[in-house]
Amino acid sequence: MKEFEWAVIGSGIAGIVSAEILTREGHSTVLIEKNEKLASETTRDFHEWMHTGSLYTLIPDNLITLKFILGAVDDILEYYSSYQGMNLIPTESGIKIETVQNGWFADNRIHFKYRIKDRKITFPWLIGVARSVYLIEKIKQHDWLRRRAGVLDPYKLNYQEIFKLTNTLIKHKQDYFDLETPDFTTISRNLLRDLITTSIKYGLHVSLSNEFLKYKKNDDGYLIHCSKESFKAKNIVLGLGANISGFIEADVKTSFAPLAVVSNISKETNSFTELDYYPKNCINIITKGNNIGLIGGISFSDKNKCDSYMDEVIKKHKKYNPDLQVLNRYIGVKSEITVKNQPRNYLYHIIEIESNVWGIIPGKFTLGFSIAPEFYRRIYKKNPRKSFKTFSNDGKYGDLVSNTAWYDMSRNQK
Ligand SMILES: Cc1cc2nc3c(=O)[nH]c(=O)nc-3n(C[C@H](O)[C@H](O)[C@H](O)COP(=O)(O)OP(=O)(O)OC[C@H]3O[C@@H](n4cnc5c(N)ncnc54)[C@H](O)[C@@H]3O)c2cc1C
Repeated sequence: MKEFEWAVIGSGIAGIVSAEILTREGHSTVLIEKNEKLASETTRDFHEWMHTGSLYTLIPDNLITLKFILGAVDDILEYYSSYQGMNLIPTESGIKIETVQNGWFADNRIHFKYRIKDRKITFPWLIGVARSVYLIEKIKQHDWLRRRAGVLDPYKLNYQEIFKLTNTLIKHKQDYFDLETPDFTTISRNLLRDLITTSIKYGLHVSLSNEFLKYKKNDDGYLIHCSKESFKAKNIVLGLGANISGFIEADVKTSFAPLAVVSNISKETNSFTELDYYPKNCINIITKGNNIGLIGGISFSDKNKCDSYMDEVIKKHKKYNPDLQVLNRYIGVKSEITVKNQPRNYLYHIIEIESNVWGIIPGKFTLGFSIAPEFYRRIYKKNPRKSFKTFSNDGKYGDLVSNTAWYDMSRNQK
């Protein structure tokens, strides 16, 4: 039986970033995945929206989520800049996205269309929108050269400015107030394929189509029982997405997000989300190039509601793109995990399940980039290295990573 220092189980963003940071530091590691390809569940279905906090300016949580998200962007700059594809450029006023071959990120800024003309819309909503616009402008101007974005001071809200903005919104003539946010998109396969290629060149062993069944403690570590090949390891990381609930004391709230891959969208279409006082009206589109887009809206606890809701979403998008054609539909499964005795929900969790067994649940793809260095810090009490030799996707190893769902669906139609 092969022996490793670390067994990372599950190969979504949580498993891949954990395996990469461990191998970067020279630890022998096996990555175990039950499917034929890596990143083939939630990390395949997601929108590829890289959050810089804009959406979380609308949440009344004392800006805690916003700060975690900004911290994740900070960590991409700090710990992933050795990669050639890592094309974020920090400036004194915002982040620029350079065009490079096989770049990880696209300068595809997400627009917010705040609904402001509706007789039912309340004054608190308008204040909420004004506060959101105010904070987004702050994020846009953030000095990324000096970084520390995650400690942006929430108490510096200038209420005079926010009231002024509320007045501007009241006088706004159109139904929607359109704002380009600093959020952008990721070409996630470029990113994941580079991470996997580099990890394998540093010695990562990948075991596919191998379902993890259970682990058992023995004298010098753990026996990891799997369906095809079992391993021995001193330490374990469980990056099982929603499946982790079988191993930790956690409540998993599952919801279903209907999505559709569409074509024939005009070149002028920006990625956007409509933001409305009523969540069901919050439709969105992430553009993918070549007139393709991924459209969606809210998620439901009842899967049966997805189909009729998606019909409505498509109708609404036809307002913007009358020639839009639906290539395929699918339902993304969202798993929000709440861990007992931990106040944070919908954020990342790093949990020591028992001695040398860790559970990692990022809650957002974007948060993967702070979860890995944070995990490493907790174990080894030092930072992982920031500058190191990296390798780009060479096809051979990169092909172990699945395509995104939208990509496969758009190609199958051609
Ligand atoms: C519809 C949708 C849209 C989203 N959009 C965005 C977005 O635009 N931006 C963003 O930042 N976040 C987004 N998210 C959230 C983000 O996608 C997830 O938080 C993230 O991908 C979860 O990664 P993960 O590694 O925890 O889980 P997963 O990607 O689900 O990975 C878990 C892996 O573990 C494997 N596994 C499970 N059980 C076993 C077992 N027994 N043995 C071996 N392997 C096993 C699975 O096969 C899978 O590969 C979205 C989520 C959804 C559902």
